[in-house]
Amino acid sequence: MIKVKVEKLQKSFGSLEVLKGIDLEVKEGEVVCLIGPSGSGKSTFLRCLNRLEETTAGTVIVDDNDITDPKCNINKVRENIGMVFQQFNLFPHLSVLENIMLAPVDRKKLTKAEAKQTAERLLATVGLAEKAGEYPPNLSGGQQQRVAIARALAMSPDIMLFDEPTSALDPEMVGEVLEVMKQLARDGMTMIVVTHEMGFAREVADRVIFMDGGYIVEQGTPAEVFGNPQNKRTQDFLNKVL
Ligand code: ADP
Ligand code: MG
Repeated sequence: MIKVKVEKLQKSFGSLEVLKGIDLEVKEGEVVCLIGPSGSGKSTFLRCLNRLEETTAGTVIVDDNDITDPKCNINKVRENIGMVFQQFNLFPHLSVLENIMLAPVDRKKLTKAEAKQTAERLLATVGLAEKAGEYPPNLSGGQQQRVAIARALAMSPDIMLFDEPTSALDPEMVGEVLEVMKQLARDGMTMIVVTHEMGFAREVADRVIFMDGGYIVEQGTPAEVFGNPQNKRTQDFLNKVL
């Protein structure tokens, strides 16, 4: 089953053309890693998938909903798309548990009791059961990002988008966050991950996509893209980062 179908997607900011025609299909359970130089449009692309950016042209279909259609109920679609950013954006004045319970209760997906039970279960899966009553400023960056992942999962999304989830972390905390993401991938979550963690992409991705200058320049399995890149720009990029 196709979860995400993007056709001829273009996005401009004023006269700056950032996405110049992106085509992509992502199947259920697939893990796609997006790599590419800074400024190549990776974040913009991800943000177009849940209409955090309005598209300029083309179509974006998520779970059979054309989200570029003005009549689309985008809030309904967004409930099934979890997003995790570089900055964790937790509410500092709410406990870890309250942060995770907020959206499911607010969007009336769950009662308070159900939301609490779900939050506790998710906290355990990200290895933070004992931090339920803690406040975000008292947690490390790696712990906060794991809470942010649990918070996204609390809405029972069927697609997870990650935008450089480990880029703001001290190096010693990167592993614990990637471990949670690996488990999610093993559990069959459909994931699109913008990352500079080439080791993660190599190990976990079903498909690696190299973006540059607003285009998908090259894509393939990790073995293909990392082991035998065809495009000069992919080769140059990988030579710099590997
Ligand atoms: P990446 O995530 O690959 O580093 P981005 O998608 O963040 O790239 O940015 C691609 C280009 O779009 C950059 O030139 C950036 O400055 C520009 N850009 C991103 N968001 C905006 C915005 N809201 N307004 C104007 N320009 C933007
Ligand atoms: Mg970015």
